[in-house]
Amino acid sequence: MEIAERVPESLRHNVFVVKIDQLFRWAHASSIWPLSSGLACCAIEMMSTATARFDLARFGYEVFRPCPRQADLLIVAGTLTWKMAEPIVRLYEQMPEPKYVIAMGACTIAGGPFADSYSVVPGIDDILPVDVYIPGCPPRPEALMDGMLKLREKILHPERVTAERAAWAAKEKAAVTA
Ligand code: SF4
Repeated sequence: MEIAERVPESLRHNVFVVKIDQLFRWAHASSIWPLSSGLACCAIEMMSTATARFDLARFGYEVFRPCPRQADLLIVAGTLTWKMAEPIVRLYEQMPEPKYVIAMGACTIAGGPFADSYSVVPGIDDILPVDVYIPGCPPRPEALMDGMLKLREKILHPERVTAERAAWAAKEKAAVTA
């Protein structure tokens, strides 16, 4: 018998019964704290997303933190050079678990217009695990919000989205590199 079914009928409208990990995932998915970091022009769109015009706050994701130890989402936004790769990895390693990575823009995903440059990382997933890819040059704030809602879905239903997310990410990456 499900735990919820053990609650007497008279109390069902007043009492929620959930597993503690579901409650934790719901709270986490409703208050993602991104790290304030940006690398190039895509970061301008990321900053715009937090303004009143686009209102990222309605989803609970507007608390950009200046310190990696207070953040659980790294949005890699902009051209990632090999020189910046080590600091970005170090920032990621300083974030507490559970933590997530969004690759924002063509440069981050696959080098973008600088893909042939010796100085640019040809894809962020060479150095970090990526949860959501957002194509575009640059992606608009709406696209970043859509990516964050996809991340929310992943946090809420990790078992459901694993295969689907992998296929989606591969398709988005192929579209950007085509
Ligand atoms: Fe700039 Fe386009 Fe690269 Fe974003 S993807 S950092 S907008 S060149």
